Amino acid sequence: MKITSVEYNKAAPRWEDGPGDGLPEIAVIGRSNVGKSSLINLLLGRKLAYVAKTPGKTQLIHFFSINQSFYLVDLPGYGFAKVGKETRNAWGPMVDAYITKRKTLRGVILLIDLRRSDSPLDFQMNEWLNHHEITTLYVATKGDKISKGKRKAYADAIKSAYGMSDLSITSSLKKEGKTEIWEKIEAFLLKK
Ligand code: GDP
Repeated sequence: MKITSVEYNKAAPRWEDGPGDGLPEIAVIGRSNVGKSSLINLLLGRKLAYVAKTPGKTQLIHFFSINQSFYLVDLPGYGFAKVGKETRNAWGPMVDAYITKRKTLRGVILLIDLRRSDSPLDFQMNEWLNHHEITTLYVATKGDKISKGKRKAYADAIKSAYGMSDLSITSSLKKEGKTEIWEKIEAFLLKK
Protein backbone atom coordinates (compact mmCIF):
# COMPACT_ATOMS: atom_id res chain seq x y z
CA MET A 1 0.00 0.00 0.00
CA LYS A 2 1.28 3.42 -0.91
CA ILE A 3 1.10 5.81 2.03
CA THR A 4 0.32 9.23 0.64
CA SER A 5 -0.70 11.03 3.80
CA VAL A 6 -0.28 10.56 7.53
CA GLU A 7 -1.93 12.90 10.00
CA TYR A 8 -2.27 12.82 13.72
CA ASN A 9 -6.00 13.03 14.31
CA LYS A 10 -6.60 12.96 18.06
CA ALA A 11 -6.02 11.45 21.46
CA ALA A 12 -9.18 10.03 22.99
CA PRO A 13 -9.68 9.09 26.65
CA ARG A 14 -12.58 6.78 25.71
CA TRP A 15 -13.64 4.86 22.60
CA GLU A 16 -16.64 7.19 22.16
CA ASP A 17 -14.27 10.13 21.82
CA GLY A 18 -12.56 8.74 18.69
CA PRO A 19 -13.19 10.17 15.21
CA GLY A 20 -16.85 10.02 14.22
CA ASP A 21 -16.43 9.83 10.46
CA GLY A 22 -16.99 6.06 10.27
CA LEU A 23 -13.67 5.28 8.56
CA PRO A 24 -12.23 1.82 9.32
CA GLU A 25 -9.62 1.33 12.02
CA ILE A 26 -6.75 -1.03 12.68
CA ALA A 27 -5.52 -0.92 16.28
CA VAL A 28 -2.05 -1.77 17.55
CA ILE A 29 -1.69 -3.35 20.97
CA GLY A 30 1.09 -4.93 23.00
CA ARG A 31 2.81 -5.23 26.32
CA SER A 32 4.45 -2.04 27.50
CA ASN A 33 8.02 -1.83 26.16
CA VAL A 34 7.32 -4.33 23.37
CA GLY A 35 8.33 -1.65 20.85
CA LYS A 36 4.87 -0.39 19.88
CA SER A 37 5.72 3.30 19.61
CA SER A 38 8.88 2.53 17.66
CA LEU A 39 6.99 0.30 15.23
CA ILE A 40 4.21 2.85 14.73
CA ASN A 41 6.84 5.50 14.04
CA LEU A 42 8.48 3.15 11.52
CA LEU A 43 5.13 2.52 9.81
CA LEU A 44 4.21 6.20 9.73
CA GLY A 45 7.69 7.26 8.66
CA ARG A 46 7.57 10.00 11.28
CA LYS A 47 8.01 10.23 15.01
CA LEU A 48 4.33 10.67 15.80
CA ALA A 49 4.01 8.00 18.48
CA TYR A 50 5.83 8.92 21.63
CA VAL A 51 8.62 6.62 22.73
CA ALA A 52 9.04 8.46 26.04
CA LYS A 53 6.17 7.76 28.38
CA THR A 54 5.24 9.33 31.66
CA PRO A 55 4.41 6.76 34.29
CA GLY A 56 1.07 7.39 35.92
CA LYS A 57 -0.15 9.67 33.16
CA THR A 58 -3.67 9.15 31.83
CA GLN A 59 -3.57 6.63 29.03
CA LEU A 60 -5.13 7.67 25.77
CA ILE A 61 -6.12 6.11 22.48
CA HIS A 62 -4.24 7.84 19.67
CA PHE A 63 -5.73 7.99 16.19
CA PHE A 64 -3.57 8.46 13.09
CA SER A 65 -5.33 9.17 9.82
CA ILE A 66 -3.77 7.30 6.90
CA ASN A 67 -4.40 8.36 3.29
CA GLN A 68 -7.56 9.99 4.65
CA SER A 69 -9.18 6.58 4.25
CA PHE A 70 -8.57 4.70 7.51
CA TYR A 71 -7.04 5.03 10.97
CA LEU A 72 -4.11 3.36 12.60
CA VAL A 73 -4.90 3.37 16.29
CA ASP A 74 -2.31 3.30 19.07
CA LEU A 75 -3.82 1.63 22.15
CA PRO A 76 -2.16 2.01 25.55
CA GLY A 77 0.24 -0.82 26.38
CA TYR A 78 -0.49 -3.36 29.10
CA GLY A 79 1.64 -4.73 31.91
CA PHE A 80 3.46 -1.51 32.73
CA ALA A 81 4.65 -2.00 36.30
CA LYS A 82 5.43 1.67 36.87
CA VAL A 83 2.00 3.16 36.20
CA GLY A 84 -0.12 4.09 39.19
CA LYS A 85 -2.84 1.78 40.43
CA GLU A 86 -5.56 4.03 39.10
CA THR A 87 -4.15 3.97 35.58
CA ARG A 88 -3.67 0.22 35.75
CA ASN A 89 -7.24 -0.33 36.89
CA ALA A 90 -8.57 1.97 34.18
CA TRP A 91 -6.70 0.21 31.36
CA GLY A 92 -8.86 -2.94 31.25
CA PRO A 93 -12.31 -1.34 30.96
CA MET A 94 -11.01 1.31 28.57
CA VAL A 95 -9.39 -1.08 26.10
CA ASP A 96 -12.13 -3.68 26.58
CA ALA A 97 -14.78 -1.10 25.68
CA TYR A 98 -12.81 0.12 22.68
CA ILE A 99 -12.35 -3.38 21.28
CA THR A 100 -15.84 -4.65 21.94
CA LYS A 101 -17.83 -1.51 21.14
CA ARG A 102 -16.01 0.40 18.45
CA LYS A 103 -17.96 -0.47 15.31
CA THR A 104 -15.29 0.80 12.91
CA LEU A 105 -12.60 -1.55 14.28
CA ARG A 106 -11.56 -3.98 11.53
CA GLY A 107 -8.76 -5.76 13.28
CA VAL A 108 -5.97 -5.65 15.82
CA ILE A 109 -2.23 -5.98 15.39
CA LEU A 110 -0.89 -7.85 18.42
CA LEU A 111 2.79 -7.18 19.02
CA ILE A 112 4.93 -9.88 20.58
CA ASP A 113 8.64 -9.57 21.38
CA LEU A 114 10.36 -12.12 19.13
CA ARG A 115 12.32 -13.39 22.14
CA ARG A 116 9.23 -14.16 24.22
CA SER A 117 7.02 -17.11 23.35
CA ASP A 118 5.94 -17.55 26.99
CA SER A 119 4.51 -14.20 28.07
CA PRO A 120 1.33 -14.84 30.12
CA LEU A 121 -0.02 -11.33 29.50
CA ASP A 122 0.34 -11.75 25.74
CA PHE A 123 -1.40 -15.13 25.90
CA GLN A 124 -4.23 -13.56 27.85
CA MET A 125 -4.56 -10.75 25.35
CA ASN A 126 -4.60 -13.23 22.48
CA GLU A 127 -7.25 -15.36 24.15
CA TRP A 128 -9.35 -12.34 24.82
CA LEU A 129 -9.11 -11.16 21.18
CA ASN A 130 -10.04 -14.66 20.01
CA HIS A 131 -12.93 -14.76 22.44
CA HIS A 132 -14.31 -11.56 20.95
CA GLU A 133 -13.61 -12.87 17.44
CA ILE A 134 -11.36 -9.95 16.57
CA THR A 135 -9.33 -10.47 13.41
CA THR A 136 -5.75 -10.41 14.61
CA LEU A 137 -2.50 -9.83 12.80
CA TYR A 138 0.53 -11.08 14.71
CA VAL A 139 3.74 -9.11 14.53
CA ALA A 140 7.00 -9.91 16.27
CA THR A 141 9.11 -6.94 17.34
CA LYS A 142 12.84 -6.41 17.98
CA GLY A 143 13.84 -9.00 15.38
CA ASP A 144 17.36 -7.55 15.38
CA LYS A 145 17.92 -8.91 18.89
CA ILE A 146 18.11 -12.39 17.36
CA SER A 147 20.63 -13.32 14.68
CA LYS A 148 19.11 -13.85 11.23
CA GLY A 149 19.84 -17.58 11.26
CA LYS A 150 17.91 -18.12 14.48
CA ARG A 151 14.89 -15.92 13.82
CA LYS A 152 12.81 -18.63 12.19
CA ALA A 153 13.19 -20.89 15.23
CA TYR A 154 12.06 -18.07 17.53
CA ALA A 155 9.12 -17.28 15.26
CA ASP A 156 8.16 -20.96 15.15
CA ALA A 157 8.21 -21.11 18.95
CA ILE A 158 5.74 -18.21 19.14
CA LYS A 159 3.56 -19.67 16.38
CA SER A 160 3.28 -23.02 18.08
CA ALA A 161 2.69 -21.46 21.52
CA TYR A 162 -0.20 -19.40 20.11
CA GLY A 163 -1.39 -21.93 17.55
CA MET A 164 -1.17 -19.41 14.70
CA SER A 165 0.26 -19.81 11.25
CA ASP A 166 1.40 -16.34 10.34
CA LEU A 167 3.83 -14.08 12.16
CA SER A 168 5.65 -11.13 10.62
CA ILE A 169 9.06 -10.31 12.02
CA THR A 170 9.96 -6.65 12.29
CA SER A 171 12.80 -4.52 13.58
CA SER A 172 12.18 -0.82 14.12
CA LEU A 173 15.88 -0.40 14.83
CA LYS A 174 16.89 -1.84 11.46
CA LYS A 175 13.73 -0.54 9.75
CA GLU A 176 12.66 -4.03 8.73
CA GLY A 177 9.14 -5.21 8.03
CA LYS A 178 7.45 -1.95 7.11
CA THR A 179 6.36 -2.91 3.59
CA GLU A 180 5.12 -6.32 4.73
CA ILE A 181 3.02 -4.85 7.54
CA TRP A 182 1.39 -2.27 5.29
CA GLU A 183 0.59 -5.00 2.76
CA LYS A 184 -1.06 -7.05 5.47
CA ILE A 185 -3.00 -4.04 6.74
CA GLU A 186 -4.21 -3.41 3.19
CA ALA A 187 -5.37 -7.02 2.89
CA PHE A 188 -7.15 -6.62 6.24
CA LEU A 189 -9.00 -3.55 5.02
CA LEU A 190 -10.02 -5.20 1.77
CA LYS A 191 -11.41 -8.25 3.55
CA LYS A 192 -14.73 -6.89 4.75
P1 GDP B 1 6.43 0.64 23.72
O1 GDP B 1 6.45 0.83 25.20
O2 GDP B 1 5.83 -0.66 23.36
O3 GDP B 1 5.84 1.79 22.96
O4 GDP B 1 7.95 0.48 23.26
P2 GDP B 1 8.99 1.55 22.68
O5 GDP B 1 8.78 1.74 21.22
O6 GDP B 1 8.97 2.74 23.54
O7 GDP B 1 10.34 0.73 22.86
C1 GDP B 1 10.74 0.22 24.11
C2 GDP B 1 12.25 0.06 24.12
O8 GDP B 1 12.62 -0.92 23.17
C3 GDP B 1 12.99 1.33 23.73
O9 GDP B 1 14.17 1.37 24.50
C4 GDP B 1 13.30 1.12 22.27
O10 GDP B 1 14.46 1.80 21.86
C5 GDP B 1 13.49 -0.37 22.20
N1 GDP B 1 13.12 -0.90 20.88
C6 GDP B 1 11.96 -0.70 20.22
N2 GDP B 1 11.96 -1.32 19.03
C7 GDP B 1 13.15 -1.93 18.92
C8 GDP B 1 13.77 -2.74 17.89
O11 GDP B 1 13.22 -3.02 16.82
N3 GDP B 1 15.01 -3.22 18.17
C9 GDP B 1 15.67 -2.95 19.32
N4 GDP B 1 16.88 -3.49 19.49
N5 GDP B 1 15.14 -2.18 20.30
C10 GDP B 1 13.91 -1.68 20.10
